[in-house]
Amino acid sequence: MIKCQICNNPDCIRTAEEVLDTIYDLYTACENCVPEPEWNTTAPFKTITDIQTLSSTFLLCNSCGRRPLNAVMAHALSIMIRHGERDENAGLIRTGTPLIYRGFPIMYPPRLGPDSLVLIVDNTGLLTAQDIVGQVPEIKGVILRTGSQAKSVGILDSNSRPHEYTLLAGCDMRCDVVQSAFGELVIYKNQSKIHIEFDNDHKMQILGSLDVKGILAGKVVVDGMCGPGTLGLMSMLFGARKVIFNDAWRPAIENLLLNLEVNSAILGVEVEPVLSITDLSLIGDKPVQVAVVKRDGRIAAKVYFGDLRYLPDIIDGCDVCLIDAFPAVDPSEFVNIWGKKDKGSRIIVV
Ligand SMILES: [Zn+2]
Ligand SMILES: [Zn+2]
Repeated sequence: MIKCQICNNPDCIRTAEEVLDTIYDLYTACENCVPEPEWNTTAPFKTITDIQTLSSTFLLCNSCGRRPLNAVMAHALSIMIRHGERDENAGLIRTGTPLIYRGFPIMYPPRLGPDSLVLIVDNTGLLTAQDIVGQVPEIKGVILRTGSQAKSVGILDSNSRPHEYTLLAGCDMRCDVVQSAFGELVIYKNQSKIHIEFDNDHKMQILGSLDVKGILAGKVVVDGMCGPGTLGLMSMLFGARKVIFNDAWRPAIENLLLNLEVNSAILGVEVEPVLSITDLSLIGDKPVQVAVVKRDGRIAAKVYFGDLRYLPDIIDGCDVCLIDAFPAVDPSEFVNIWGKKDKGSRIIVV
């Protein structure tokens, strides 16, 4: 059992095997579910049903206990309207952005059971968010977006101030199932502090092309701005001999350590802490090693917390350095530093 650092609920975080075992039919409608409602999402929702009486039984399937995504969003919208935080003529589109708790590529609108959605909202107060989490069974957390939608959550580099969203109510821990030719992994993120990402395919294509060129399996790979660890963990699955994870944002390293644990059986590894990360500052400077990861007694990965620019001075070199900077960041400084220090390695900007 892995305890969630945000909500302490033992059911919040499951191992990768448990998630993958249940994910494939998690969101499909049962034979007794109501048909998918076809609503105009910009039309005033009050023209579709009575907002004042809308409750958790609205479009609820009595057989499977789940509701269509849009019914859940409508329930949240009705609470926002009752609190006066959305116009009474607001359409469904004004509710916010839904993030499925266990993200998985599906081609149909999902049916949702309890605690299966994290909602990102603008212009919403604490009491409203608490009412949404308290009254809408499917919503496990409400996050307030700050800044424009294009601004990434986290830090651009160690000189910048972190940009965070605010967790208003509930728990913002959720996961994505990432698929590759070598298998699947489950990547958790506490979403008010970690960049929200919808496109993992692009990253998997880059890893696939490295693999085809023979520069992944058996090699030493640096995941230089690792975030919650998607690229580096997948590199381990692709057969990298050793992966060196690094990030300067402490919440990213906390999520990475969780993801190493969640996926430990699939990767065949054990994680040994080197030092307690909770005592460290929020933004790292000179990299410090916080964990070592072993497979069959041999080192399979190391985890560093710090500024990527200093990492070449600390490690023994690598075959490939992956740099996955935010879209707004020019990675050339990192590329130059690594190119000078470690002439044998390839630097791949993701
Ligand atoms: Zn939680
Ligand atoms: Zn049903």
